Order: sequence, then structure tokens, then C-alpha cells
Amino acid sequence: MTGAIFPKLEIPDTLAAGPGPGSTDARVLQSFAQAGMADHMQDDVLRGMIECKHMLRQIWGTKNTYTFAVAGTGWSALDMMFSAVMPGDTVVAFTNGTFSGIDGLTLRMRAATREELKANTLDPRPASVTIIEIPHGQSVTGDIVDAALAEHKPKWAFMAHWETGSGRINDLDGFSKACERHGAMGLVDAVSSLGVADFSIDDYPGVVGWASCPQKGILCLPLTYAPVSFTDRYIDVLKENGAYTYCHHPIFEARHWGIVDGKDVEKGAYHRTHSAYAVAAFHEALRIVLHDTIANRAEAYAFHESVLREAVEAMGCRVTSNMTSLLVLNLPEALAGREMELVRLCRAKNFCLWPTLSEPVQIRIGILNLLNPAAITDIANRFADAIRELGGEVDQARVDQVLGLHYPSVIAAE
Ligand SMILES: *Cc1c(COP(=O)(O)O)cnc(C)c1O
Repeated sequence: MTGAIFPKLEIPDTLAAGPGPGSTDARVLQSFAQAGMADHMQDDVLRGMIECKHMLRQIWGTKNTYTFAVAGTGWSALDMMFSAVMPGDTVVAFTNGTFSGIDGLTLRMRAATREELKANTLDPRPASVTIIEIPHGQSVTGDIVDAALAEHKPKWAFMAHWETGSGRINDLDGFSKACERHGAMGLVDAVSSLGVADFSIDDYPGVVGWASCPQKGILCLPLTYAPVSFTDRYIDVLKENGAYTYCHHPIFEARHWGIVDGKDVEKGAYHRTHSAYAVAAFHEALRIVLHDTIANRAEAYAFHESVLREAVEAMGCRVTSNMTSLLVLNLPEALAGREMELVRLCRAKNFCLWPTLSEPVQIRIGILNLLNPAAITDIANRFADAIRELGGEVDQARVDQVLGLHYPSVIAAE
């Protein structure tokens, strides 16, 4: 293939019904494509970033000055959040699926001493880090957190708010209270809950660092910004101990968003080259979320998830998740073990569901930004078709009955 020039890359428009990315709003794509070419220190680009910062404080529900966003994806924000964790620091991390599992790995890499890292560079096991593994399909409870923090009294505690691998909601209030009770600084992966759940981070004072992503609840895939927020306590600890990064250093990165020495300033200062296209797209996405309101979006997610859940249960599936943007499920008894086969079949038709990424294999169906009766009906019907294609039976009348009950107008229009 050396020297080959390939044909222009064409990517189809699929039904993105997985855990993420969600369907980006057309207005966001338009903002991305229509922004002018302007450098990262041009006045409107800098003003846009400062407006994003103010909108992010509303979306997170916080007065934290150090609230801004990191260029990249969820892992970029998480990498920044974990930057204050230093070799030898004591950490207790609660994991209950793929993503919190990777967060746990990041923490083990961060907290490992030079010798501990060298002993197992890709999977270090530092003595100062305790990983509490909660089985797939179960949530992290306040009691579990409280018991572990009481025993280990760590400097840092970590939990994912919503574990997207298994579709489970973890007890944020219990986590925050246990952190306060035992003097731990809480760090939370809020990648899949921000913009989907209705919560304000200032209600959880045990948590000092938060990280999210652009492509799930915020609807802004065109590689943009991953929201973060840090309390003054986190920033004080960071200032005292330092971090082994320039790029993902919260204090340095915040300067471009107009935050210097703990205060808002009128204009950002150079940290890295930001894209005017990305700033415009992200700005529009935040405007959409705030215009809809988090409360309304949270309610819509809960409603449509409950309808889709009822529809797949009417097909004989067993749902084990409790997130409102995602169903994690097993096929009916007669098709047990064929979950991956069904996912492949659907994906081949641009109906893009997902399997779980760690054992056991289950199917994940997401509804990010698909909050309308037509979209949910389409997902339910395509899923029923796939079950039939695999040789399974679906009582379509029962499925229609569920959809008709909750979405009377759609059925009537057919
Ligand atoms: C999606 C996800 C991530 C990773 O986000 P990227 O945008 O893929 O970097 C991390 N944690 C959780 C809980 C997630 O759902």
C-alpha cells in the first residue's frame, strides 16, 4: 500500500443507539462547519471560551471557579482529574465495570512508585492503592464506600457516577458523605451522567474533582471539549504537590479559559492551540442543553428509557441496568449466549448497538439524544426484527401495545 492515495473516505449516517457517542445535534454540526478560520487568541474565540466556562458552571451546578473543559474526550478530562494523584499517594477506588476499571488502572499508574511501575508497566499493583471490585451488574452503595474508607483512610477516593459498562448508577450521595466522614478527597467520573441526570455537584462537598465528556449527555462529538470542575481544596493540594504534566495541568489549562490565580479574568492566556470550529460547536451544544434545561432532559431520558425497557421486556429480554440513557440486557432464554451475534447483525445494518466490553457479554442499547417517540419506536422495531432474524420469536402485538400505550400519536399516524 506504500504510495497509495485512497478514494475519498465516505462514512454513513448510522443510528447511533449505543452507550455513546450520541447523535450530535444538527445545530452543533452547523456551528462547527460555519465558524470562520480564526486563531486561538482571536477575540471572539476567547470570548466564546469564557462564555462556555460560564455555561459549564450552570450545567455542572457549581460555583467552582476552576470549571472549564479539556480539549479531547472523556479520558482527557479524567487524565486531568487524576493529575493531582502522585506516586505513593493512598487511594481507594470502587470499580463495577469497564470504565471505572480503566479509571482504576489510571490511578494505579499514577500512584505507583517508580519501582512499582517498572515491575509491571501496563498493569501496576502499587501497595498504596486499594481497588474494591463490585460485581458486574451491581451498583456501588454508600455502605460499601463507607466501610472501605473507614478501614483504609485514603487521601483519595474514586468512583464512577454512572458506570456505562454495566449501565449501573452508583450512590453519589453516599460516596460524598463517606469522603467527608473519613477525610478523603473524592474524585468522580461523571462522563455518562452529565447532561443526562439532574444533579448539581455543589450538593456533594466530599467530591473535589469531576470529569465528563463532550459526546454523551452534551451532544458534541466533533472532537471538542470534555468538561471538568475542581474545588479550591483540589487546586490547593495541586499547587502544594504539583503534577507531572503541562498539557493536562488544571491550573495551566484553566488560563486559556480566563481563570488565573483562582479568579476569573477578562481574557484567556495561551495554553494550547484551540480550534475556532470546536469552540463554536461546543458553545452551541451548551446553549442547546441549557435551553432544553437539564431537568427537562433528565425527565425525557427517564420516560423514553422506561418505554424502551418495557418494549424489550415484552420481547422476553432481561434488563440489568438502571441508567436512564442506556439499557444493558440479555436476550430471551431461547437465544441465550447469542448476544454478540445479534449485535453484529444489527451493526451490519447501520443499527449501531453495542456489546458489553468486559465479561459477561450483554447487549447495550443507548438513547443519547434520541428523545422522541419516532426514534424509540424505530429502535424497538429494528431490535424485534433482529431477534426474529436470529430465529427468535417476538409477540409484535405486545410490543405494539406497549408503544401504543405510551406513544399514542405515533401509532395513530401510521
Ligand atoms: C465513555 C466513558 C469514558 C470514556 O470516554 P471517551 O470519551 O471515550 O474518552 C469514561 N468513563 C465513562 C463512565 C464513560 O461512560
